[in-house]
Amino acid sequence: MNYPIGLELIYLVASITYILGLKMLGHPETARRGNLIAAAGMTAAILGTIFLYPGKVPTFIYALIGIAIAIGTVSGWMVAKKVKMTKMPELVSLFNGMGGASAALIGLVEFAHYTDHRLSIMTILGGIVIGSVSFSGSMIAWGKLNGTLSKPIRLPKYNLINNLVLLGILAFAAFMIWSGTDSQLLLYLLFFAAIFYGIIFVLPIGGADMPVVISLLNSFTGLAAALSGFLYGNMVMLTGGILVGSAGTILTFAMCNAMNRSLVNVLFGGFGDTTAAVGTGSSIQGDIKTTTVSDVAILMNYSNRVIFVPGYGLAVAQAQHAIHELEELLESKGVEVKYAIHPVAGRMPGHMNVLLAETNVDYGKLAEMEDVNPEFANTDVVFVVGANDVVNPAAHNDPSSPIYGMPILQVENAKKIIVNKRSMKPGYAGIENELFYNPKTSMLFGDAKKVIQELISEIKGM
Ligand code: NDP
Repeated sequence: MNYPIGLELIYLVASITYILGLKMLGHPETARRGNLIAAAGMTAAILGTIFLYPGKVPTFIYALIGIAIAIGTVSGWMVAKKVKMTKMPELVSLFNGMGGASAALIGLVEFAHYTDHRLSIMTILGGIVIGSVSFSGSMIAWGKLNGTLSKPIRLPKYNLINNLVLLGILAFAAFMIWSGTDSQLLLYLLFFAAIFYGIIFVLPIGGADMPVVISLLNSFTGLAAALSGFLYGNMVMLTGGILVGSAGTILTFAMCNAMNRSLVNVLFGGFGDTTAAVGTGSSIQGDIKTTTVSDVAILMNYSNRVIFVPGYGLAVAQAQHAIHELEELLESKGVEVKYAIHPVAGRMPGHMNVLLAETNVDYGKLAEMEDVNPEFANTDVVFVVGANDVVNPAAHNDPSSPIYGMPILQVENAKKIIVNKRSMKPGYAGIENELFYNPKTSMLFGDAKKVIQELISEIKGM
């Protein structure tokens, strides 16, 4: 398709804004601006397409586009404005699913127009399969993140079944391309089979494995959008899709690293096979020790070095401002303070960085896992706030644990460990944590925000 030069120029500028925006998203200080720049580019590309697209378009189509944009903008705006920080990962999953669904719908609509073009049919079927898997998989991930589907659901031999269904879908798509069929029935069969595969692909995954799946689905959506861009010869769709696809793929590898899994193992192995091990943690022997705000305040006040380990609970309690205040207070008293950031802490990649950036914590104080692990041995107090799985030593000590092999923050090497959470309930992976029974550990029960605010007033009074 040949686009008018004006539209091509808009697409070029929009593509540049995506690249710039993505680059700026890499740092909390520039992320907000980067997001706005890319969104402005996207708006220009949409408006340019509507008004400069060649050929005659019936007026009622413009009306339909206008209505769709209005519904999408208003609902997207309202949901994004209202969403709580802890619900953000679910929203991202939902939006990602919508991207996949759009790519699949484009394929369903365009199939009849390209039946004599084998390369286009390949592109269309690829977009339908990948977009549909991304859509239904993201919907299941959404249910898992919001707790509706809290338990992994596994058929017997689910791995074999899943791989067979995937092979069946690929063979079916290959047959459609080879035969040059224009059958809508076969097309919809393929579409529903791919939707079904997305469901059975994500349903069995549980424990702590969701970060890898989420970033993988993200890259699928990008790939499906890029295929649509390729179909239309549309540069801006292609660039956008490739950027999302490649960023998602890089993130998938980063998450694989964080979980210590290979991508092959993620795609075709016993991914998320945690059935054998769930619950083994209940055999932990020993007692837990509790402590009080006053004791912890004294301990921190007279320490040389304290490391905070934030987790999902910090986001739930919205305690990011409070912990920053505690950090500044301790620093003003000569205590060296750092934050140890685990790559899968929270419920979305980079969750803790985003949360702490909101309060303008100095980025230099956020230490990555590999850098901070050797430092725990020289640390007087580790303050684990609403983190659980990312500090669970079972990842090293218990080969039957679902998180065995996952790199963790080795807080047990510190001189003293304070764990703040509300109860003895497990974290996302659903397993107990032997760290809580460590003789060096004291539990400080309570809501993170309340506990940290109390600590601040105690320390201020010293
Ligand atoms: P966890 O889910 O392991 O633990 C969070 C802890 O926070 C809970 O044990 C909970 O205990 C406590 N908590 C909840 N609310 C509060 C509160 N108001 N005040 C104090 N504590 C609170 O979180 P982690 O960050 O350690 O680990 C993340 C987990 O999520 C990993 O298993 C990871 O694989 C998974 N995951 C990560 C994703 C990502 O991309 N980062 C995506 C999907 C899953 P209690 O109820 O007793 O207070």
